[in-house]
Amino acid sequence: MQKIDPILEFVEITPTARIVPDEHGWRSKCLQRLIRLDLPVPKTVALPAATVRAIASGHVVNARAMLEVFGDGPLVSVRPSPANPDWGGPATILNIGLNDARHAQLALTHGEAAADALYVRFVQSYAIHVARLDPDAFEEIKPGPGALAEVLRLYRNETDDPFPQDPAQQLSEVLRSMARAWEGTSARLLRQVKGAPPEAGLGLVVQAMAQGIGQGISGSGVIQFVDPVTGLPQVTGRYLGQSQGRDALKTEAALYLTCDKRGPSLEEVAPELFAELLRFGAVCRQRLREEMQIEFTIEDGRLAVLDAVKVQRSVRAGLHIAVALARDGVIPPQEAVLRVEPRALSELLHHQVDPRGPRDVIARGIAASPGAASGKLVFTSDAAQASAARGEACILVRRETAPEDIRGMHSSAAVLTERGGMTSHAAVIARGLGLPCVVGASDMRLDMRERKLTASDGRVFHEGDVITLDGSKGQALAGVADMLPPALDDSFRQLLAWADAFRDIGIRANADTPSDAATARRFEAQGIGLCRTEHMFFEEERLVVMREMIFANSPEERAAALARLLPMQRDDFVQLFDIMQGLPVCIRLFDPPLHEFLPHDRDGLRGLAEALDRPLSEVTRRADALREVNPMLGMRGVRLGVVLPEIYNMQAQAIFEATIESAQRGAPIVPEVMIPLVSAKREVEMVKARIDAVAAMVRTHAKVDFDYKLGVMVETPRAALRAGEIAQHAGFLSFGTNDLTQMTYGLSRDDAGRFMNSYVQLGVFPEDPFHILDVDGVGELLLMGAERGRATRKDLTLSICGEHGGNPESIDFCRRAGFDYVSCSPYRVPMARLAAAHLAL
Ligand code: PEP
Ligand code: MG
Repeated sequence: MQKIDPILEFVEITPTARIVPDEHGWRSKCLQRLIRLDLPVPKTVALPAATVRAIASGHVVNARAMLEVFGDGPLVSVRPSPANPDWGGPATILNIGLNDARHAQLALTHGEAAADALYVRFVQSYAIHVARLDPDAFEEIKPGPGALAEVLRLYRNETDDPFPQDPAQQLSEVLRSMARAWEGTSARLLRQVKGAPPEAGLGLVVQAMAQGIGQGISGSGVIQFVDPVTGLPQVTGRYLGQSQGRDALKTEAALYLTCDKRGPSLEEVAPELFAELLRFGAVCRQRLREEMQIEFTIEDGRLAVLDAVKVQRSVRAGLHIAVALARDGVIPPQEAVLRVEPRALSELLHHQVDPRGPRDVIARGIAASPGAASGKLVFTSDAAQASAARGEACILVRRETAPEDIRGMHSSAAVLTERGGMTSHAAVIARGLGLPCVVGASDMRLDMRERKLTASDGRVFHEGDVITLDGSKGQALAGVADMLPPALDDSFRQLLAWADAFRDIGIRANADTPSDAATARRFEAQGIGLCRTEHMFFEEERLVVMREMIFANSPEERAAALARLLPMQRDDFVQLFDIMQGLPVCIRLFDPPLHEFLPHDRDGLRGLAEALDRPLSEVTRRADALREVNPMLGMRGVRLGVVLPEIYNMQAQAIFEATIESAQRGAPIVPEVMIPLVSAKREVEMVKARIDAVAAMVRTHAKVDFDYKLGVMVETPRAALRAGEIAQHAGFLSFGTNDLTQMTYGLSRDDAGRFMNSYVQLGVFPEDPFHILDVDGVGELLLMGAERGRATRKDLTLSICGEHGGNPESIDFCRRAGFDYVSCSPYRVPMARLAAAHLAL
């Protein structure tokens, strides 16, 4: 017999006892709160982590003294109580103290069968969890006549000892086995995955058993008061008569709690107890400021609350619960805002596969763009467009996508690719379009010729077969899955309205088309921070005119082509201004190199020669002449504006005429005109002089005045370094961190994917700098540019509009650097609004 160590500490949980979450664990703290709320919690003793650690290393706690706390020898249970409920812990052991004598007593009060069943279960769990005997042998013994004798015999055979009869010895052994289990390697690894520190300790609670087995109404169950998927008020849970612990959750025979068609309920069987449970729920919600799941036992018509845990919840439910608590005055709005994780919001903006429904997975890949959609399989962009024309939803499946698939992607409900990663073409475009997307699904096989997809389990799907793509989980599913609609409901809007009141940095959206702008408005962006106008020229009809402009042989020919583009651009801007209703709109002048508008293969060039009615040789020669060795660093951005001023002149005229038209329609706007890829002050001076001249011309012609702002996009290191002099001619600077990252690293945006994974894995870069702003390098240029610009012009407006704009880390950086706003893709606006509020609170 080991020596009892008198210094090992334990404490009865009373309203005033010293119970510390870090020492005694969350469960002890929670039980103390329930006791303070006057809920009927059975007597409970808490063991701090220091005691449990000492037990694990061989010390023996005074279990007899502990049992004396409980008075007249009730049975007890032991449960784990780590500092954080997510860290798990060893299995709960019930009915400690049961022995031959107690069994005989129970047989008198509860009947032979009930007494046998309890004793058999205790011997089984003690044998498996404490004596560590082979579970199979013990689990095979089913309760019933003779079972008790059999488990006791098996126990003696396996251990050479009779089953221990001393309750203190039983308790002491249970505590020791639970303390040791916590120290085991696999338990350690499991909890570390869940974020537990290596030194995380385990508290334990020893609690008097409320018997759910016996006379009158006796049983046990769990109850919660909200739906775990939607967060809406709804009583759910299970109750099972003559049961203990979590039995009710394990059997189909359990009663439901509320009346419905599934059968008799606790509400019908014991309405007053049910009402009492509802009252407990309301008290917990009000005082613990949380939706709790309550574990209860009924013993001969008396309720006992054994435990309460935070209701497990989806993101959607979490948001709803936080808003409901704040609306009811239980928590302040800022706490509701802080309770929702910004990055989690993105899954609420889209349809989701209902987690309660079945899931027949046929392929797995990278979850590249969130949301879910069902539709017919198509294998080409043409088929996708044809499907859209018929009004049928389709899922586009490709090995990988290329620019010519964009229209196919537009026509699809979701996109699945065999290859690619988070920054592949399909992933980037799908995120921009808000389409669910799974990439790198290499466990499926595609036969593009036969147009069939072979799933990892060998099932074959043909074009036209219906599947569901879950871009949030990175899975393709057979058939139509049950869906939850986007959660852009009243709670969502309320939470973000509160967030807006707390944040101190503006959030705009990058929007190129009216549909992007409409999305930006829906997500309540405070304006457009970047409209990439060239995206307006890729549409079929305009592409032809654009190509005519590129191939013009004389200024007159070019002017004629531009004159045809002018009304189209003006229309684009009128539409944008209409949608944005007076909110600021920042329009970037033409940026890409011209060869991007030309076909690259022979067939395409032949088609172009036909369309332009020019000899193929001339078209080929001119196309060759426009080709660049390094197009990202060539004739693009303001360089085009300087050398071919007519394009910018046309765009400026279109912007100003649209401004006048919008004012006349009752939506006045002050447009912001932005010059891309600047590296020298002189570039800005030249473009500014011309744009001012166009403005004067439009004013004179229309006899109407209007205002506008002119600013510069800082995308080259030199522009950041020379921001002081550039700001002399700019009302605002917007940092284009995509190009700025590219040029700071000397690393092509389009080629970085080839080695970025290796670089990150090898720890050369901490993260992909095209995803997470490189605070040390690119960030320093941002700070330098901001400081030098503001030194020239105190009221200079500063912003960021690269892909980084929506990341919480970049928002943090920009906020601290005193930027006025960040601009990000429309679908990231809600996350950015919430993240900005978290940073300000
Ligand atoms: C940038 O370079 O950061 C930017 C926003 O422009 P684009 O991505 O169009 O080059
Ligand atoms: Mg750029």
